[in-house]
This record gives sequence, structure tokens and C-alpha cells, in this order.
Amino acid sequence: MILDGRSVAQKVLAEVKAGVERLRAETGAAPMLAVVLVGDFAPSKIYVANKMKASDAVGIATRDHIHADGLSREQLLALLRRLNDDPGVHAILLQLPLPNGLDEDEAIRTIAAEKDVDGLHPTNLGQLLAGAPTVVPCTPAGCMEILDHYGCELKGAEAVVVGRSRLVGKPLAQLLLARHAPVTMCHTRTRALAEPTRRADVLCVAAGHSQTVTGDMVKEGAWVIDVGVNRLETGKLVGDVDFESAQKRARAITPVPGGVGPMTIAMLMKNTLRAAQRQLAAR
Ligand code: NAP
Repeated sequence: MILDGRSVAQKVLAEVKAGVERLRAETGAAPMLAVVLVGDFAPSKIYVANKMKASDAVGIATRDHIHADGLSREQLLALLRRLNDDPGVHAILLQLPLPNGLDEDEAIRTIAAEKDVDGLHPTNLGQLLAGAPTVVPCTPAGCMEILDHYGCELKGAEAVVVGRSRLVGKPLAQLLLARHAPVTMCHTRTRALAEPTRRADVLCVAAGHSQTVTGDMVKEGAWVIDVGVNRLETGKLVGDVDFESAQKRARAITPVPGGVGPMTIAMLMKNTLRAAQRQLAAR
């Protein structure tokens, strides 16, 4: 079975759109997402454009703060503080990576936790670790949404996560753990990667290299979530899993493109709506 992220994302976006309309009817306000882009890194510009287009489609208002020529540390922190203090802004998206010389951790910490729609603020990551998540990072949240949509039973399922980044691997492992899956985390110091991956009923791969997992490393009947996005020299976009060989053994697998990618933006929209709902309810 192919796990079709595009159709699951459409479902989430339709729910968000309905939620935005309800919020507007109840409060007279639409969610407002402030998008901050520093520098002129080409992929970031595309991501930001896609996020703003998705916002528009579901009725989320956006305000862009695009600084192609860069910002000093002080200017960036002052901008983030201004957005924190602005009651008309409910959500702040700081597009990463920041240009060299700017401290990402410091910038993320400066964003008010309730406006952090990427779920990367230490308070939000801490809430996740404490088992009481408020804002969950978008990509891992999207992986869970796909598994749930297609009815993957997680309780007791042997889950293996390849990759331990703050953005994907670590939060994903926490989400799987919270659903009662025993979780093994793997990274570059894992000695024989195929050993844990071959045990996995649910195998999630976020390593950032094509062919990290090949079909012979997949358990027969496994659910495979491929988070990776890699562009080959030929221009072709592929994941971290060798799709052809893995799909022969997997019960279900996400394609690249069209798997986890569309879910990330959909979950960003969901996080933005929730941030606005919480802030408007508190007034
Ligand atoms: P990252 O910060 O580079 O982290 C990669 C992780 O994978 C690290 O923990 C690294 O281990 C581990 N790793 C790398 N090679 C490995 C190998 N051969 N065996 C085992 N572990 C290995 O990357 P990321 O931000 O988590 O992103 C991972 C991938 O997902 C990238 O391809 C990225 O483009 C993609 N991504 C996609 C979306 C989406 O929306 N579809 C969103 C975010 C990321 P160490 O910690 O030991 O170095």
C-alpha cells in the first residue's frame, strides 16, 4: 500500500479551513502567521512561498518579513520580540536554516512559546517530553497523522527511528513512545543499522541520505515512513529509503515526493490555527 501524503494533507487542510471559518465567525479574527526569512537561500524561498500559498488557501492571513540582505543578531531578535508583543500576530514561523553568524537556538528561544508554530521552542519540546504536548514539530506530527489515517496499530509495535535531529527524529520517537510503541533510535554511531531496521514493524527514516535503507533492511509487512528529501544529480527527488526494493517487503510505504512532504505544511497550518484559537480564547 502506498501511503498517500497528498490526500491526507488535503483532509487536514480542509479541517483547518473549516476551523478558520468557525474561528472567524466566533471572534471576527482570522489566524495571522508572521513569516520571517533571513538571507537568500533558494530552497528556503521556495518553502516560504509554499507555506504562504497554503495559508492563503485555508484563510490564514500572513505577514512576511523577508530580509534577503540579512539581518544583524540584534535586528533579528528585535523583530521577533516585536512580533511576540503584537496581539494581531498569533504565530511566528522562522524559516531555518539561518545564515551563518546567527544563532538559531537563541532565535528560537526568543520566539514566545505560544507563537512558536514549529514546536521547536524549548518549552514546547519540554512539554512533548513531559507527555503533555502543546505544539508538536510539523514533520513528525505529519508522520503520525499518516500512520493514524491508514490505521497503523502502534501499541506494542516495534518502532525504529533512523535519525536523531531536534526537528524530526527526537520528537518523532517521543510521539511513538507516547502511543505505547517500544522505540529504538538509530544514528551515525549505530553499528549495524540493518539489525534494528529488520526488527521494525514501523520504520521511520530521517537521515538525509538516499539509500540509507534498502529493501533487504526492511521487515516483511513493515510500515515505512520515509522523511528524507534528496535531490540526485539527475535532478530526481528521492527519499532516504530505496523505494523500489523497500516496497516489495513493506506492507505500507510513503513515496517521495508525495509522502511526508505535503504533511509538513498541512501540520504547520494546523499548528497556526491552534495557536490562534488558544490566544483568542485567552482574551
Ligand atoms: P539532520 O539534522 O541532518 O539529521 C540527520 C540524522 O540522521 C542525524 O541524527 C544523523 O545521525 C542521522 N544519520 C545520518 N546518516 C545516517 C546513517 N547512514 N545511518 C544512521 N543515521 C544516520 O536531518 P533532519 O533535519 O532530521 O532531516 C532528515 C531528512 O529529512 C533530510 O533529508 C531532510 O531534507 C528531510 N526533511 C524532510 C521534511 C519534509 O517536510 N519532508 C522536513 C524536515 C526534514 P548523527 O546525529 O549521528 O549525525
